[in-house]
Amino acid sequence: MTRIAGAPLAVLDQIRSWHEGRQARRLARLAIDDGIWRQVMAASPVFDNMSDAAKGRLRDLSTRFLLEKRFFGAQGFLIHPSVSVSIAAQACRLVLHMELDHFAPFRTIIVYPGSFVAEREEEDELGIVHSGYEELDGESMEQGAVVLAWSEAQPRQELGTSNVVMHEFAHKLDEASGSQNGVPILHPEMNPTHWQLALRGAYTRMVEESQRAVSEGRVAATVIDDYATTNPAEFFAVCVEYFFHAPEFLAENLPAVFEQFCAFFREDTRHFADWIPPEPDQ
Ligand SMILES: [Zn+2]
Repeated sequence: MTRIAGAPLAVLDQIRSWHEGRQARRLARLAIDDGIWRQVMAASPVFDNMSDAAKGRLRDLSTRFLLEKRFFGAQGFLIHPSVSVSIAAQACRLVLHMELDHFAPFRTIIVYPGSFVAEREEEDELGIVHSGYEELDGESMEQGAVVLAWSEAQPRQELGTSNVVMHEFAHKLDEASGSQNGVPILHPEMNPTHWQLALRGAYTRMVEESQRAVSEGRVAATVIDDYATTNPAEFFAVCVEYFFHAPEFLAENLPAVFEQFCAFFREDTRHFADWIPPEPDQ
């Protein structure tokens, strides 16, 4: 009786231990090589000044990201682990204080060695569709793949405000709400009206200033890269680049946007600190 009653438990134990062993072997196979991780962490200023705990979380997120996504090299480009780990770490840096499911669902990342040409169709104000070609460094297709040019996506130490990987994955954060429109899924504690006032307000002012400059025959001097005036989705993605690469500049020039980003990304990138929301006005 004892043996009969004990048998299923033994079988369950065996199954559990087999399952745990399989999981451990799978994770070990997927583990990011220490040397490659150190190389990736040293390559970009966005990883500077991160605590060991933060880097540990980033490594966990990156490992899961690599497990979920499929990388394809275009035009014969070879996806070396240093390429996929670098892209994963830069993308996951965005969601360090969130989760991977804050990105819209997508599976494919295509990497070209350099800039690539994409076919474009645009409708003018008369409703006539014009087709043509555009040379791109990155693209985030709605409900589709992220496409990157490695020549631009590989991190550099020199400080700048441009980061094509963060830009394209910012579009995937934005898209999680249903479309790329500059409004991602906000956290429950955030106020959507405040987000709209801050981002749409800054975007509209920048577009108006740009149009005024053109009508007066002068070059528009937008506060941030004028690609941000393309549409609200590009404004959001360009501001994300500044949030991680030039936080002081963004906080000084677009303070309302910066404050909303601190709440959304749950960190103050000026101080590499968690975001503590300000006390509500008395
Ligand atoms: Zn974009």
